[in-house]
Amino acid sequence: MLELRPTCEHCNKALPPESTETMICSYECTFCKDCVEHVLHNVCPNCGGGFFQRPNRPKNNLRDDNYLGTDPASTTVKYKPVDIKQHNVFAKNIQMIPPHER
Ligand SMILES: [Zn+2]
Ligand SMILES: [Zn+2]
Repeated sequence: MLELRPTCEHCNKALPPESTETMICSYECTFCKDCVEHVLHNVCPNCGGGFFQRPNRPKNNLRDDNYLGTDPASTTVKYKPVDIKQHNVFAKNIQMIPPHER
């Protein structure tokens, strides 16, 4: 099940489950939209993949207990600011490639 991490791993901004500015990579690395666009250049510092908007888990029990009440967001903060200099070197040649072709 998708882990709904509570904050941006770079700037520690709160990213509650209802947020529309939460971005994740396929490994669930989680960043805010601002950091993805302006710091990471849509390159995940951990895997090199691209980011997509994190789906919102329903807060209402619409069907069969599949909602935040049963499966709440994680409260474990993963705050690990990216070394921007190092990341720019890493991302230099990756950012030109569309995520689905990396
Ligand atoms: Zn951020
Ligand atoms: Zn990643």
